[in-house]
Amino acid sequence: MVADLRSDTVTRPTPAMLEAMTAAEVGDDVYGEDPTVNALEAEAAALFGHEAAIFTPTGSMANQIALQLLADRGDEILCDSKAHIVNYEMGAAAAFGGVSTRTWNAPGGRLDLSLVEPMINRPNPYVTTTRAIEVENTHNVGGGTVQPLPELESLRELADAYGLALHLDGARIWNAHVATGVPLADYGRLFDTVSVCLSKGLGAPVGSLIITDAERARRGRILRKRLGGGMRQAGFLAAAGRYAIDHHIERLADDHARAVRLAEALEPYGVCEASQVETNVVLLRTGGIAKIAEAAAERGVRISVLGPDWGRLLTHLDVDDDAVDRAIEVLVDLVR
Ligand SMILES: *Cc1c(COP(=O)(O)O)cnc(C)c1O
Repeated sequence: MVADLRSDTVTRPTPAMLEAMTAAEVGDDVYGEDPTVNALEAEAAALFGHEAAIFTPTGSMANQIALQLLADRGDEILCDSKAHIVNYEMGAAAAFGGVSTRTWNAPGGRLDLSLVEPMINRPNPYVTTTRAIEVENTHNVGGGTVQPLPELESLRELADAYGLALHLDGARIWNAHVATGVPLADYGRLFDTVSVCLSKGLGAPVGSLIITDAERARRGRILRKRLGGGMRQAGFLAAAGRYAIDHHIERLADDHARAVRLAEALEPYGVCEASQVETNVVLLRTGGIAKIAEAAAERGVRISVLGPDWGRLLTHLDVDDDAVDRAIEVLVDLVR
């Protein structure tokens, strides 16, 4: 393998991370007795300016627990049409939460309140009650798009005016933080629930968190257990997450620079725009992407196919400068 650019989920733990994992002190987390999980949860809560956090096996579970915390059966949640919660979580909001979703179309996944406000249903006997709004930051299939802080602050004001809750799908909030310098707590304090992934750019093998207030966290632990997400000696995994938070946040800037370098090399062939790369995602727009992906894979470069004429490249911990050079060589050869 020369470069696996399909996703930032494909990373393997580094030797130092593995060492931190094997040295972890553990206990039974369903009893609340795993000191490493407890430490990770406390650290994450503090980072995002909240009271509590819950360690979950996946980001999908973190999102779905959050949605269940914010909306009751028969309520609805608003989000954009390309959101992870509606496209990649197997209908879980409906299947497990009894919650319906209604979506707006956002170019690049970028939040635009003028599209959101007209969609809000006030409680009355004729319409589905809107309870919450969900935002993804950075936006995955939007192209690693960073949501501007002023728009998020206005969203909070809007939600307060309508009595709505806000959920942040922050699977890649770390990338937004590094790209903008906005403190994690400045994002966190605007939302009632935040989900974050430790297993994307941060490079942990497994693990996500829901970050929220103490009362929602208490209820969230019940929902997690109900979904089968109560883990036992999870401290081995939490140790990877703690290590990742301590050592792998600032280095995301390298991933962002490499994504720009990839895009700049491919831009002359009309398949992407370097100026649109904000974090670690490059969207490719070209016909026959499946064929290109297949030919690239034969030469050790793997990319994601998202549709008949678009694909995605992601940079991450296991893609260094040499891998980017080789990927450029192979991809330029196939798209020119
Ligand atoms: C990856 C991802 C998730 C969570 O995915 P899991 O594979 O369930 O951990 C949630 N939201 C976004 C935007 C993602 O990219």
